[in-house]
Amino acid sequence: MATHLSKEKKPAEGRKHQNMQNDTKASQGQWGRAWEVDWFSLASILFLLMFAPLIVYYFIMSCAQYQCSLTDPLLDLLMGNKHLSDIWNNTPTLTYRAAVIYSLWVTFQVVLYLFIPDFCHKFLPGYMGGVQEGAVTPAGVVNKYEINGLQAWIITHVLWFANASCFHFFSPTIIFDNWIPLLWCANILGYAVSTFAMIKGYFFPTNAKDCKFTGNFFYDYMMGIEFNPRIGKWFDFKLFFNGRPGIVAWTLINLSFAAKQQELYGQVTNSMILVNVLQGIYVLDFFWNEAWYLKTIDICHDHFGWYLGWGDCVWLPYLYTLQGLYLVYHPVQLSTAHAIGVLMLGLLGYYIFRMTNHQKDLFRRTSGNCRIWGKKPQYIECSYTSVDGTKFYSKLMTSGFWGWARHFNYTGDLMGSLAYCLACGFEHLLPYFYIVYMTILLTHRCLRDEHRCSSKYGKDWKRYTAAVPYRLLPGIF
Ligand code: NDP
Repeated sequence: MATHLSKEKKPAEGRKHQNMQNDTKASQGQWGRAWEVDWFSLASILFLLMFAPLIVYYFIMSCAQYQCSLTDPLLDLLMGNKHLSDIWNNTPTLTYRAAVIYSLWVTFQVVLYLFIPDFCHKFLPGYMGGVQEGAVTPAGVVNKYEINGLQAWIITHVLWFANASCFHFFSPTIIFDNWIPLLWCANILGYAVSTFAMIKGYFFPTNAKDCKFTGNFFYDYMMGIEFNPRIGKWFDFKLFFNGRPGIVAWTLINLSFAAKQQELYGQVTNSMILVNVLQGIYVLDFFWNEAWYLKTIDICHDHFGWYLGWGDCVWLPYLYTLQGLYLVYHPVQLSTAHAIGVLMLGLLGYYIFRMTNHQKDLFRRTSGNCRIWGKKPQYIECSYTSVDGTKFYSKLMTSGFWGWARHFNYTGDLMGSLAYCLACGFEHLLPYFYIVYMTILLTHRCLRDEHRCSSKYGKDWKRYTAAVPYRLLPGIF
């Protein structure tokens, strides 16, 4: 469901994609996803398409076969102790049981998403659920979304705990016990949805004016063609796949790992509790602020392709949960000082992440008529143009955390990410993958976002960067 802000007419039916592409390109204000693919982007995309699934497999296999050592599999292969076929033959295959579990899981999340309108906003003060509007797309469209992720998360977790404590239909270790067969199911869904999104972008897009065709098959497959693909009025691909099944699953996966520790060692370590609590806060924060999430880069600027489709189905649930998986193989019990240090770092990171995001959200919602740290916020007035030439006005805040650095929310996120890793001690590299990955992701995101904002706001963006010169760390970067 969408509201058109512009008065522009819809393209004539039957018009060829190429014409539409060129017409749109000519009038596009040039903000949003790239139109032209440089060789570096293409090389990165080909690398990711080929190696990202292998990277996920390597991490999960290292835990299953090498007690989470990242170097031992390579050494074994290089020294000829093992062949690739030995490792592969020791890897569990897709099972009927995993296929049933995964299908039920995804179907259940679709049902919760599509058929149970939000009731949480009716009794939770301050929670913004129900029908909400997204940001203006490059074609000048405002989509409507049914925000009911918190409710889906609560229902799913209540059922999980009810099963674990009363019904015992399945063991709480079910996810860990089927971890690799489930990986194959997640891959099938990830590839299926990305391929479907590509075909849909060509033949029956939800909003043709918000499609981008670069002419490069691999780039389009990876970065997506359609901006907001939907089926029917409400099934929005980005909102569904970003939040559920991946992020609802995140906390369940961690709970399953904790249950496995209990089963194997008769206790749950303080490190496992810390990982469950800190990541649980992050997940709950995501659902509490799902309406705010509509204004973040994933929904506002990224098109839906393999990057989001496969990434949400496979990369996120498998690699964001590596700490919990590691702790099943290495049940680290932290000293009290270490545990308190990790908790403090995690909470401080979360506080900075949330407050920075909150400050921008409040500022944008009230159009600057609010107080940041007790004062009226300062800002730079800016303007941009949408596809049809309509001029829009916006503001870039230079107060609060946004006056310290241009992406201080990322800095808080990185502090929290480091805390999850530090909870696993210092014996292995594998749990530190997350902080390395997040640093690359968020630094790249900084650059990508700034490139986009610079195209969008032009000289106004230059005035903003002069007022707030640092990106992540004041005085350093
Ligand atoms: P932001 O929330 O920082 O949004 C960036 C956008 O905000 C810009 O494109 C611009 O959009 C607007 N903006 C930039 N500067 C200002 C300003 N000074 N005042 C007002 N508006 C401004 O980025 P993301 O959407 O990437 O991230 C949201 C959160 O999600 C972050 O905290 C991040 O850490 C987290 N995240 C987590 C990930 C994970 O995997 N765990 C992945 C990605 C993000 P406009 O065009 O509207 O001006």
